[in-house]
Amino acid sequence: MQIKHAEFVMSNSKVAHCPKDRLPEYAFIGRSNVGKSSLINMLTERKNLAKTSSTPGKTQLINHFLINKNWYLVDLPGYGYARVSKKAKKEFQKFITDYFEKREQLVSAFVLIDCRHDPQPIDLEFMEYLGESQIPFSIIFTKADKLKPQALARNIEDYKAKLLEGAWMEVPNYFISSSSHGDGRDDILNYIGDINKQIAAD
Ligand code: GDP
Repeated sequence: MQIKHAEFVMSNSKVAHCPKDRLPEYAFIGRSNVGKSSLINMLTERKNLAKTSSTPGKTQLINHFLINKNWYLVDLPGYGYARVSKKAKKEFQKFITDYFEKREQLVSAFVLIDCRHDPQPIDLEFMEYLGESQIPFSIIFTKADKLKPQALARNIEDYKAKLLEGAWMEVPNYFISSSSHGDGRDDILNYIGDINKQIAAD
């Protein structure tokens, strides 16, 4: 898929205020600093479409970007920022579950995982939540350029093994990306493009 058009539409703190048209949407989510903004800018080939985070955890908003005037890329807030209170964590959880449970036009989520790190409980639990809620998702392993190919392959294999040890009977669909090098861009966009074609044909 070529990105011919990408525009910021709105930021919301409530699902009820999100765009009312029924265009298919794809939500990007992950821990703060995972590289979500960089990935969105890389995918859309726009330098500053998503704001790279200088203050992680501060902006708890749902951001809608209209792509090619026929689908939404949704930037959800980063989770797992350590320096927030329990109350704030609870509110955040509610905010996120509200989005996933109410947003009917959500087609699929992308859960971003930093390829350098060992599997983190917060990510594993979040993917389990998506699975239990029957929300389709793919994993995107980010920052692939930060590892040598062998180390990258080993980390991905370890991650897959951890998923299979846990709640998963099979490994969820996944992509490997580098925002610095553009890796994964075509695969992710073609994946979205193919689903959009299917939806339009139905
Ligand atoms: P966000 O908090 O998830 O939106 O993360 P950002 O996109 O702001 O990225 C966090 C940090 O990781 C920034 O310093 C980015 O420059 C860096 N970063 C993000 N993606 C990549 C990548 O693919 N490769 C490298 N080398 N650095 C990255």
